[in-house]
This record gives sequence, C-alpha cells and structure tokens, in this order.
Amino acid sequence: MPMKSLSLDKLVLFLDKELGLAEFPRDESANGLQVEGSKRVRRIGLAVDACAYVFREAAALQVDLLIVHHGLIWGGVRAVTGLLRDRIRLLLDNDISLYACHLPLDWHPSYGNNAELLRLLGIRGTGEFGEYHGRRIGYRGRLKKKTSLNSFVARVDSLLGTKACSVDFGAAVENIGVVSGGGWSALYDAERSGIDTFLTGEPSHSAYTLAEEMKVNLVFAGHYATETPGVKAVGRMLSEKFGVESIFIDHPTGL
Ligand SMILES: [Zn+2]
Repeated sequence: MPMKSLSLDKLVLFLDKELGLAEFPRDESANGLQVEGSKRVRRIGLAVDACAYVFREAAALQVDLLIVHHGLIWGGVRAVTGLLRDRIRLLLDNDISLYACHLPLDWHPSYGNNAELLRLLGIRGTGEFGEYHGRRIGYRGRLKKKTSLNSFVARVDSLLGTKACSVDFGAAVENIGVVSGGGWSALYDAERSGIDTFLTGEPSHSAYTLAEEMKVNLVFAGHYATETPGVKAVGRMLSEKFGVESIFIDHPTGL
C-alpha cells in the first residue's frame, strides 16, 4: 500500500488553527511554519527542541515535517550565519519542513503540555493557573486523595521517567498547579489560587523563599521532561486524524 501523503500547505493551515496560534500573538517564538521543505508530507517527526541532533535523526527517519516546541526563530532573524546556517542547511538539504509551536502548546486544553501533565498524573483539572506574559498557560487540579510529597514525587518520576528535585514546605499534597518548562514565575499565582504544591520544569533558586512563605511545596521535574507530553499528543492527533505516520524523536537533556 502506498504511504499516505498530505499537502504541507493544508497541514500547516490545519495546525495553525487547531493549535490556537492566534491565541498568543505576543509569543517570542515565531510560531507556525519556520522552514519550508517538501511540499508533500508522508512522515511527521515530533520533538521538543529544534537542533542538529534532532534534524539528523529526522533525516535518517525520512521525516518530511518536523513539529517542535522550541523552534529556531525567536523574535525574528537578522542573519542566517554560523550555527543557524548549519541548522537550516541540515533541514533544507534533507527537504524537511520545521513547524514550531511554543506557548500555545503549553496552554492548549487538548494537546498542551500542562493539560497532558494533569491527565498523565491522574489529576482532575479545577481551572487555569500560572500567568505568563499576561495570560494563563498552566492548569491546577485536585488529587482524589491527599498524599505525601514523597509519594507524589515518586508518581511524577515513574510517569515522566525523571528524578525530580523537590522542596517540602510542609503541606500534604492535594491541590496542584502545573506549568511546564521554565515556568517558575507562575508561582506568584499560587497565593490566590490556593494550591499547596507547584509542579514545573526547571529548578529556580528565586522560587525558594516565595514558596517557603506561601507554604507551597516545589517539584521541579525538568524542562525537557515536562515538555514532551504536548508534542507527543500532537503526533497522536495527526496520526488518528490523517492516518499519517508520526514519530517522536527523543533527545533528553536531563535539565
Ligand atoms: Zn520550554
């Protein structure tokens, strides 16, 4: 059976709308199609970061379109030189298109990192949480039953394959706020949202004393690990909807 192929233009239009790109006009990331390769898409790659390792893997896997959370273009391009030249050359030499979706893929209620993290951890969503550039991109939710921080962290680690770093400020874990990646500043939202535990990606020293005074436990599960669920969900959706092959390209940073 011949492999199913889709038009790149149509797929990009679909993704722009489905992923809600228009919701974040002020995102620093140039969301959407960043590099145009093959006009036909047979195989889609999903990854967290746009980088040479991922591009080489994508080429070896004969990917036509690569969808990433962290793209190549942030705030515009002034020159295509050095590392950026090499990265773009890798894509164009292999006819691979690059599509980036940053904040919309943290926030998205169906495919976003934060909604997916709640779902994976079995936490019932109770509302939005965590302001970033003027709008909320995370979610908060409640566990069925209170638990200790240690057992919550063990659950995070087993589901995400991480070794999360946590700081215990005494409260039992029940109401959890989640903001993926480098989302520590969303902690400011904790004061009014009544959470007892904040789960984010990168550890931040600045979060410590704030959390201490708010009596909110901190769980840092890693920027990378908290941002794989979104692109994976997009891959599943595209395979189900269009019958196209999608492959997650893992390049964990451990950070
Ligand atoms: Zn990120």
